Amino acid sequence: MKMSNMFVQTMREFPSDAEVISHKMLARAGYIKKLTSGVYTFLPLMWRVLKKIENIIRDEMDKAGAQELLMPFVQPKELWEESGRWNAYGGELMRLKDRHGREMCLGPTHEEIITSVARDILKSYKQLPVNLYQIQSKFRDERRPRFGLLRGREFIMKDAYSFSTSQEDLEREYQNMWQAYTNIFKRCGLDTKAVQSDSGAIGGSVSHEFMVITDTDAGENDVFYCECDYSANSNHAVSNLPDAVTDGSFSESKIVDTPNVGSIEDLSKFLNCPQTVICKSLVYIVDKAPVVALIRGDRAVEETKLMNAVGGLDIRIATSGEIEEMMKENGFDAVAGFIGPKGLKKYGEYEVKIIADKTVANLKNFVIGINQTDKHLVGANWGVDIELPEIVEDIRLVEAGDFCPECGKPLKVTRGIEVGNIFQLGTKYSAPMNAVYLDANGKTQPYIMGCYGIGVTRTAAAAVEAHHDEWGIKWPLAIAPYHVVVVPVSTQDNEQMKVANEIYEQLLSAGVEAVLDDRNERAGVKFKDADLIGFPFRITVGKTISEGNVEFVERSNGEKLAIPPQDAVDKVVKAVKEIL
Ligand code: ATP
Ligand code: MG
Repeated sequence: MKMSNMFVQTMREFPSDAEVISHKMLARAGYIKKLTSGVYTFLPLMWRVLKKIENIIRDEMDKAGAQELLMPFVQPKELWEESGRWNAYGGELMRLKDRHGREMCLGPTHEEIITSVARDILKSYKQLPVNLYQIQSKFRDERRPRFGLLRGREFIMKDAYSFSTSQEDLEREYQNMWQAYTNIFKRCGLDTKAVQSDSGAIGGSVSHEFMVITDTDAGENDVFYCECDYSANSNHAVSNLPDAVTDGSFSESKIVDTPNVGSIEDLSKFLNCPQTVICKSLVYIVDKAPVVALIRGDRAVEETKLMNAVGGLDIRIATSGEIEEMMKENGFDAVAGFIGPKGLKKYGEYEVKIIADKTVANLKNFVIGINQTDKHLVGANWGVDIELPEIVEDIRLVEAGDFCPECGKPLKVTRGIEVGNIFQLGTKYSAPMNAVYLDANGKTQPYIMGCYGIGVTRTAAAAVEAHHDEWGIKWPLAIAPYHVVVVPVSTQDNEQMKVANEIYEQLLSAGVEAVLDDRNERAGVKFKDADLIGFPFRITVGKTISEGNVEFVERSNGEKLAIPPQDAVDKVVKAVKEIL
């Protein structure tokens, strides 16, 4: 490809809405163009990168025994009703109607469709196991599309679905996919960590996320990990706590004045007691219903855990207005900061659910709100002053320094970008959708399913997050849009142009994806563009050609060599052979 013909426009500035490096660089280097929020055109350079990632995925999936197909992007409501997700999926599901008023959605994922395909074809145990995958655009009406390709609304995903006859077989396939994922990300030049995760809207019990670890804002997940093998997304992580004072030692149970002392920190100072003897009451709205979460004063609630504990889909903290309304409805006059579980019955048409974190179950003589502004109860005990709620669950956010649930050493925390996800679904879709086969005894059984996703566009963006410097992208060779750029310093210089052309032709005939920067631009401009776009190698033909040398630059480490043109060509050809 000649640079003068290439459909690419590099920009001086970053787009104003770009917060993270990958978004900034992909936009500036001419890879993506925004159409509307979370929706991008993948320009030719980007499309080459995405196709390379897709082909690595295809290669490894095929090697692992999976078969590719392509399902429709538009899906009928009826199938989503069969699985129970039409109502359950929430706002991310983009719903629409056709001209006959039939309801549909744009596929955010394809469990329903693949299950309906399978149940019509896989009728006997003799046809199982099977693993089917596709690579396709998905649409999710994300609450907060941001970070360019990292969290789009329309994005490309590889999704695979396995059908087995037993849990053991599912577990074998899960391991098989785990290995395939490890290979895929490695070939894409990414180090990943597989961490335990919450299964979210997809469902199922066991799941792992493949995370690219980063210390930047692009890492939307907190990952807790230990020097033993334990690692988990914060939405799933558990820990053991260091010993703490849990007995408030208030000699009697009594109501005390706590004027304007609404925060845990102020309360512990005011009462001269540790935060660990305060039972904190937090009001959430899960879907539309009120939920009061009780947790030890020094700890925070993990919202996904809380949402799972009540079986909801959407969670947010209640507003102070909602809290006051709820107080009034239950006969109290109290503001946030003084709330307690006792006497809270209903809010609007909903009953108030009360969930206690495990940390509060063993509190003694503790401090708690009683729905009276500027007052707290001290010396409280479960069963005496207040009943311990029926639901006691782990809804606590783990903190660094808590002890590993597996080996007891202190946990550490880092951030990760989730590029892939594997789930053991079991019969979550096959049972409600009556997707069954005949076993060896002629009995019908639901398939035991697994599903396995990779964000293709997110993987490309994660690669930029992992590989760049202040000048631009440093693509890993296997997913770079082109392998090498050949830059004649002066297009007016016949000798330079002749050698540059020869090098370029030689690279092309060796199967290397080469670009010739034949633009009549200053060398500095061409070098800047080359660094920004991120060609893994640059061969510069300048004055030193009179001594028989070109400059050979490796983008990944900045190494520069003065070598004869043939050596430069050989180096690139060799490197390209190694990734194939
Ligand atoms: P997240 O927690 O980041 O919203 P998810 O858990 O909902 O993602 P999955 O349903 O597991 O995502 O989808 C499989 C893969 O698709 C993810 O691992 C991720 O790489 C990719 N993906 C999901 N949502 C997006 C998005 N909005 N933009 C780009 N890629 C996405
Ligand atoms: Mg996920």
